[in-house]
Amino acid sequence: MSTLWLPDNRRVVGCDLDDVLADFSKGFMLIAHDKYGVNPNLRPTSWEWDDCDMPADRVDGTWNELIHNRPNWWETLDVEDGVDTVLLHKVFNKTKLFFPTARANNVGRPVEIQSQKWLFNKFDLLHPTVIVSGEKGPLALALKYDYFLDDRPKNCIDIKKACPDAKVFMKTATHNPTVDLSHLGIHRVANFNEFAKVVLAEA
Ligand SMILES: [Mg+2]
Repeated sequence: MSTLWLPDNRRVVGCDLDDVLADFSKGFMLIAHDKYGVNPNLRPTSWEWDDCDMPADRVDGTWNELIHNRPNWWETLDVEDGVDTVLLHKVFNKTKLFFPTARANNVGRPVEIQSQKWLFNKFDLLHPTVIVSGEKGPLALALKYDYFLDDRPKNCIDIKKACPDAKVFMKTATHNPTVDLSHLGIHRVANFNEFAKVVLAEA
């Protein structure tokens, strides 16, 4: 007896964009350099950014510049270290891959379109599924991730709460080196490639 549908047995994967695939910190600091003369090679050692010559007013001013005066800025970011195009393609082709992001809306094309164009321009990914939302936990509940990668500890914790069976990984970034979430079953990877190898070994 046949059924009317073909089951989709692919594993569900969520992969953050900024400071995972895209070098957001570099792009942000380049704006800060233009606007305030900040050394563009500095990187934040906490989520607050206040420790790299970036007090709150400069962080706000940099965001303001990015949002209002840099059309399609999200398309201009460099690729983060440790992202291999072949590995990304394998994950894209073998799994149900989502790119959830909390990126801010800015001037130019809609932010999800900028993100899709960036993924196409950098990696030749055709029609990647980018979902722009600050609510990564509820989104995880709906999508039912099997695997998830993010550099922000809070996001990793929210996703693990929403999907306790998911394998959640925190990507090392300059702002999270001392954060240990292993007691929650959230383990650290150095970069996307390390995450991709775990996924591909099991998918
Ligand atoms: Mg991120």
